[in-house]
Amino acid sequence: MSPQTIFYIIIAILSIDFIVDKILDSLNAKNFDNPVPEALADVYDKEAYKKSQAYKKTNYKFSNISSLFSLCLTLGFFFFDGFEYVDEIARNISNNEVIIALIFFGIITFASDIITTPFSYYHTFVIEEKYGFNKTSKKTFFLDKLKGWLMLTVLGGGILALIIWFYQIAGANFWIYAWIMVAVFTIFMNMFYSKIIVPLFNKQTPLEDGSLKTKIENYAAKVGFQLDNIFVIDGSKRSTKANAYFSGFGKQKRITLFDTLVNDLEEEEIVAVLAHEVGHYKKKHIIFNIVASIILTGITLFILSLFVNVPELSLAIGVNQPSFHAGLIAFGILYSPISEITGLIMNYFSRKFEYQADDFAKNTYAGEPLVTSLKKLSKNSLSNLTPHPAYVFVHYSHPTLLERFTNLVK
Ligand SMILES: [Zn+2]
Repeated sequence: MSPQTIFYIIIAILSIDFIVDKILDSLNAKNFDNPVPEALADVYDKEAYKKSQAYKKTNYKFSNISSLFSLCLTLGFFFFDGFEYVDEIARNISNNEVIIALIFFGIITFASDIITTPFSYYHTFVIEEKYGFNKTSKKTFFLDKLKGWLMLTVLGGGILALIIWFYQIAGANFWIYAWIMVAVFTIFMNMFYSKIIVPLFNKQTPLEDGSLKTKIENYAAKVGFQLDNIFVIDGSKRSTKANAYFSGFGKQKRITLFDTLVNDLEEEEIVAVLAHEVGHYKKKHIIFNIVASIILTGITLFILSLFVNVPELSLAIGVNQPSFHAGLIAFGILYSPISEITGLIMNYFSRKFEYQADDFAKNTYAGEPLVTSLKKLSKNSLSNLTPHPAYVFVHYSHPTLLERFTNLVK
């Protein structure tokens, strides 16, 4: 296949992906004003409902503009030989393929991040601010950026450098070494993410003694769940939106509650949310997700190994001197329809798992406080009560509030 043909396939994939996304968004927007289902009538009062309608519409408009901007930027880069330009800069600085690749990806990543920063700034300080969600100071916003870049440079740069080095010493077999490295990294991150990465951004304190902790401990003892690590994280530093999540396994497993969640919910409701999280662990969803992600990575790396030394891939994106890093860019886009499909499958499983975790909470604790907590959390984040089914199918990792409600009260 000629580089020219591959180039047009890449442009087609980028454009179709954008169009499909916009169709889904507009279907979803069409349902914004649908009547609220009877079962959810108590989520919003009149005023909060009005506010949620406005919030949805503002976000819809914002996402249209920002995604159109990103598409134009990407297509412009392709049509005006941006990759060749960056590749030349990198080759003028070094002769080492690993260094060249790091500079190449470094320039592309940081430039696109800087160009799109005004959008995230506007989203945080104008939209989220207007609806009362934003608690982020400008200092925190820019410090987060800086820390994010540092993390990306160290971790992303490290992994990329190793993969290219594997390619240099093992040729097409590099994927096996890369796979082992990424697998070890995935497991390590899952276990220690809360200990190493989270403290860079947030403060976590063990849940203090008191009636809530006693209730949680009683529940944990009842379901035979060894729980030494319950942490409260200062989510309120950035946003009023609340959350809870489970991480790690074995001795490293921990449950993290946002301080906003602890403040917004009654104790029974918090225990119910926690019971849901314990359900994810007991039903082995954590292990499933790790294993699935490692298998998918292996498949992707294997397919990459079949194509990455095809010079046409580099030439297709306008880079005259074929290389691993240029091939990687082309491959990333050509492969994206497949990763979209695996994403759909993973979301499907994720929604199934949410039902299972809800059932676990209902059977081992109670359904009622979980229902009221989900309703409160939906209200406090002004969430959409009438999403379009196609949008849910593609984008939702959780069932809709109505679906969860129906499952919990049956
Ligand atoms: Zn869940």
